[in-house]
This record gives sequence, C-alpha cells and structure tokens, in this order.
Amino acid sequence: MVKTMKLIVRAPAKVNLGLDVASFRKDRLIEWDMVMTSVSLNDYVQIETQDSSNNIEVHSNNGFLPEDSRNLAYKAARLFLQEASLNQSVRIEIDKHIPIAAGLGGGSADAAAVLRGLNEIFKTNYSLKKLAKIGIKIDSDVPFCVYSRTSRVSGKGEVVVPLNRLPKMWLILAKPGISVSTPRILHQISGKALEHPKIDNIVNGIQNSDYNQIAKNLGNSLESITTQNYPQIFTLEQRMRKYGADGSLMSGSGPTVFGMAKTHSRAQRVYNSLSGFCSEVYLTQPLNIENP
Ligand code: ATP
Repeated sequence: MVKTMKLIVRAPAKVNLGLDVASFRKDRLIEWDMVMTSVSLNDYVQIETQDSSNNIEVHSNNGFLPEDSRNLAYKAARLFLQEASLNQSVRIEIDKHIPIAAGLGGGSADAAAVLRGLNEIFKTNYSLKKLAKIGIKIDSDVPFCVYSRTSRVSGKGEVVVPLNRLPKMWLILAKPGISVSTPRILHQISGKALEHPKIDNIVNGIQNSDYNQIAKNLGNSLESITTQNYPQIFTLEQRMRKYGADGSLMSGSGPTVFGMAKTHSRAQRVYNSLSGFCSEVYLTQPLNIENP
C-alpha cells in the first residue's frame, strides 16, 4: 500500500490550428489530420490516493459535469489502475476553468492529467507513449493531451507527431453562449462536401517559424457543419479579424472561435472588442512558443 499522496496537475485546453476530416466511413470511423496546440487556459486536477481499496471518486466545482464513470477523468483512473494492476482508491477533484462542450478538449485534458498524475504518484514510470496508448481508449484527443506539445495528430488520434515550437503569438478565445455536442456534429458529416484545409502548409509554417503562413492557412473541415446550425460563429470570426486578428477559426467541433495576434497590444484590442459582445473571452498563449 502506497502512503496517502496528493498531487495537483494542470490540464491545458487544446486548440485546433488545422482540422481535416481526411477520410470518413459510413460507420462513422473518421481519420483525422490535425494540427493542435495547448494553450494557457487550464483546469486543475487534484488527485489523492485513499486508504481503502478499489474505489474511484470524482468531484468538480462545475454542476454540469458528471461525477461518475461518464467523466473522462474517472475513465482515465479506472484504465490506469487496471493497466498497472493496482488495487487502490483515488479521489479526483476537478477545478474546472475550460468551458465544457466548447471544442477545447477539456474532458480529454482532465483525462490526460489523471494519467500523468497517477503515473507520478504510483511511480509506474510509464512513458508518455504508453500513457497515450491508454488514453486513446478514452477519447481521440487524449493522446495529444498526454504530450501537450504542438503536434500533427492523425489516424483516430493515436498518431501524435511533435512539431517545432510555435512562433511567438497570442490566441484570443471566444465562446458563444451555446454548447455543441461533438457526436451530433460528426453524425452530420455523412454525404456533406467538406472543405479540406491544407494541413501541410500549416505544418510547414510551424517548422519554418513563419507566423503569416500559419495565420493564412488556418482551416477546419467541421466549420461548415457547425456554422450551419450556429451562424453566430462566423460573425465572431469576422469580428475578430475586423479588430485586428491575423487569422481566426473555430476550434474542434466548436463553438469556440480563436483569433491569432502577433503582439500583446493587438491581442488586447481584439479581446476588448469581444468582451462586451461575447460572454466568455480568454486571452491566452500557446504553451510551446519560441522564446523572444
Ligand atoms: P472535444 O473538442 O474533444 O470534442 P469538447 O471541448 O467539445 O471536446 P468537453 O468539454 O471535453 O468537450 O466535453 C464534452 C462532453 O464530455 C460533455 O458532454 C461532458 O459532460 C463530458 N465530460 C466528461 N468528463 C468531462 C470532463 N472532465 N470535463 C469536461 N467534460 C466532460
């Protein structure tokens, strides 16, 4: 029995700089090709071992989150303990800051934080690759969140190829007052002519530290579907550009929109222009940026 331990792990939100539905089958098996980065907006996940056996408890400060086995943090704990053959009890407390069902991967971030945290608490010494392999059983974004580095992510989410650090930039996130169910959006893909953003161009922009090339190639295959239901997403994107963002895009299946700005003053201007217009606005930076 390990003595009772407590750990607080950061769980950063993700943003899709590019999201391509590379292939789609009728049974809804999707092959993704995405560029993702983690940003400075995060939940805090407290993990505590307990003096009993075989029990997982999840609590959070957000009344909308399930606290049972539907919570992705719970699933992560269960899979980790099974994998490591540990007959332990853990209590997880999620201090939620990432908006829920927003396209920012908050649930996956919490799950990845639990995997990393339990690995540390129980000194299991699993590699990130091994944790990502456990993570793909939970959700397609979890392997990326285990690494939390700017990456190209493909397959069902299990192929994570780290890229260079991003050039210095700010990302302004704005979430309209609606929640979008990812499965519902994915149900609507079938039979739609989707746009295919040029993921290679975004990747080259990152590898060459070319801010403008990244900004002008932002693209998301799911945008046309989500905006059909929620046209206010387009309005937000346009507003971001009007007030100085060099590029703007919906993240994931939405509805959060992000804008890119090179300087803090420009980012602040975009942030201010949205603050009275949209209830949830965040001024963030990618976690992996070049030092100035
Ligand atoms: P993605 O972009 O990966 O689809 P998202 O940001 O759109 O994610 P999440 O915030 O991860 O969506 O939540 C999606 C669903 O998952 C919600 O219905 C929520 O109830 C459920 N969920 C389960 N566990 C969590 C968690 N720890 N945090 C947030 N949502 C969770």
